[in-house]
Amino acid sequence: MLALLGGPPVLRPGELGGWPVLTAEDEASVLAALRDAMPWRWPMRAATELEDAWSELTGMPYVLAVNSGTAALHMALVAMGVGPGDEVLVPADTFGATAQAVLHAGARPVFVDSDPVTYTIDPAQAETAITPATRAVLPVDLHGLPADYAALGRLGLAVVEDGAQAHGATYRGRQVGALGDASGLSLNGSKTLSSAGEAGLFATADREGHLRARALMTFGESQSRATGEMPEVTSVGWNYRIHVLGAAFARSQLRRLAEMSDSRAANGAALTGLLTGIPGLLLPVVPEDRTHVYFLYPLLVRPEEFGLGPEYVPAFRDALREAATAEGLPIGRWQTKPLPHHRLFKDRQEFPVAADICARRLSIGHSSCPIGPPHTRNTMRRIAAVFEKILVTEGTAFRRMVTGR
Ligand SMILES: *Cc1c(COP(=O)(O)O)cnc(C)c1O
Repeated sequence: MLALLGGPPVLRPGELGGWPVLTAEDEASVLAALRDAMPWRWPMRAATELEDAWSELTGMPYVLAVNSGTAALHMALVAMGVGPGDEVLVPADTFGATAQAVLHAGARPVFVDSDPVTYTIDPAQAETAITPATRAVLPVDLHGLPADYAALGRLGLAVVEDGAQAHGATYRGRQVGALGDASGLSLNGSKTLSSAGEAGLFATADREGHLRARALMTFGESQSRATGEMPEVTSVGWNYRIHVLGAAFARSQLRRLAEMSDSRAANGAALTGLLTGIPGLLLPVVPEDRTHVYFLYPLLVRPEEFGLGPEYVPAFRDALREAATAEGLPIGRWQTKPLPHHRLFKDRQEFPVAADICARRLSIGHSSCPIGPPHTRNTMRRIAAVFEKILVTEGTAFRRMVTGR
């Protein structure tokens, strides 16, 4: 019997672990940074070590460790010369911060519908949205899967990568963070590379762009104090510098990024294999030229496979979410509607693909049930057992819950 109707739940309490995974090395790294932080000075070793390590991994020569992903994206846009009067192409299905960064740069986000297979920005739709004012495209490596950079590169625009959900994923062998002309990544505690709190990473290969980003990060000062010269205030700037303890934690976690990303990719692929054939679910697809690190494992509900029309999408989705939660599996909704339909943007255009994805999407992952460590292939079997029970063994009872009959 479904746990929701009083049966025993599939997953036992404590069977799932959370993200990030803390090790003794992480603790030692943070403690060492704390001791090194007296007296205060800038930049501190933990921050420069993080920058150097990210530069080495991605091959991007200019890296700045900052206090959020939103700050890093703002810097990446300014580095590419985006400013007032410019338009930036942004996917309609993303987190608000992607478009907020465009607004911070004084530019206008122009929303673009999603690709129905990868759920990332559709390059063909992006092309039709280009105007003389379009300066850049801001693809998001959504859920942990890189966007289609080869096609986006052909648009003739600056490409600014939002890799906030996809550290460690690769596209044609290149690392996320190095897939555009400049990138902004988040190190928020939940992300695939975590600072335990709030932080971010900016990267570019453009020296002039890097200097603009650096000034934006440090009060609009054109020279860094690190060079020993006295700074000149030359532009509007913020204080986007990173907290040293978060930098130390992320630096320590970065040593295990490859291992953690391999685990995420393998567990996600295993979960897809295990869920294949269970009715009512559309599973994520990973094109051969890239890897997926499943910050979120997106499941799109398909009531059609239970003989129910699309009008049953909300009822089917919410019933599945409730039933899975009762079986012990935390499962959530992420972006319940296209970003342009939020009150700030008041964009009346239709984004049919993004709207359908948002309506059908349930997601596993984030910090409550990571697809990667501490979980293993065996955990994926246990997760799949939850869907097997709800949609197959108890499929008739579940269908009755959805229809109310
Ligand atoms: C988390 C996230 C951001 C923002 O990062 P913060 O560190 O929270 O500022 C931007 N874009 C996407 C797609 C994200 O998931």
